[in-house]
Amino acid sequence: MLIDLKGITKSYQTGDVVTPVLHGITVGIDRGEYVAIMGQSGSGKSTLMNLLGLLDRADGGTYTLNGMDVTALDAAQQAEVRNKTIGFVFQSFNLLKRMSVAENVALPLVYAGASRGEAKKRATELLERVGLGALGGRMPNQLSGGQQQRVAIARALVNNPPLLLADEPTGNLDTKTTEEVLKVFEQLNREQGLSIVIVTHEPDVAHHAKRLVRLRDGLVVFDGAPAEGAHG
Ligand code: ADP
Ligand code: MG
Repeated sequence: MLIDLKGITKSYQTGDVVTPVLHGITVGIDRGEYVAIMGQSGSGKSTLMNLLGLLDRADGGTYTLNGMDVTALDAAQQAEVRNKTIGFVFQSFNLLKRMSVAENVALPLVYAGASRGEAKKRATELLERVGLGALGGRMPNQLSGGQQQRVAIARALVNNPPLLLADEPTGNLDTKTTEEVLKVFEQLNREQGLSIVIVTHEPDVAHHAKRLVRLRDGLVVFDGAPAEGAHG
């Protein structure tokens, strides 16, 4: 199992006010799955994604990622696991304006100490994989929103992680460019065996996944086929 969550709880504390958000999430996700997470605004979707991505810590429960109990790791160890295992895509594309598309994609490799040539080669490969092989020399503002999100996907995958976490990745996109991005997810899942967890509030987006997990009040209230649960 790639992701194994058991009884995960999480509250936020602001001053004296404690807001319980996750009340015991138990869910397993295998390698190669494509899972959509739905739920009303405030139901804890982003909180759960941050925990899955080792960007935050649970208060209780256990998280086993890729066979390793990551619950007890310190911040540096978590960062190491995160860099190797997880790519992130967010609603905002977060591309650096002054860098070309190819440079944006290569940046994580440059940070990791890859040579220029190696980084460039890998960036080109990834851009081809998301259907943007010809646009590496452009600046981000010369691309459509859908294309920019595909660049962000290429960047997220440049270190070859087995897991992609996407929090409302189509939230800023119109219907047509949403389809563009979903096609890329589908292809990466089918052809590369990439495991994908995507948060969305759009039933149409959830329908593209193979499995749907619905949260309500910090609990899993549905886990099954998107066709059955996407409009619940
Ligand atoms: P969703 O992504 O499903 O809309 P979130 O996980 O972002 O929901 O938020 C769940 C609840 O936790 C909300 O009530 C939100 O206000 C609260 N919350 C989220 N992040 C924080 C934080 N850093 N500090 C305090 N409360 C937070
Ligand atoms: Mg959210």
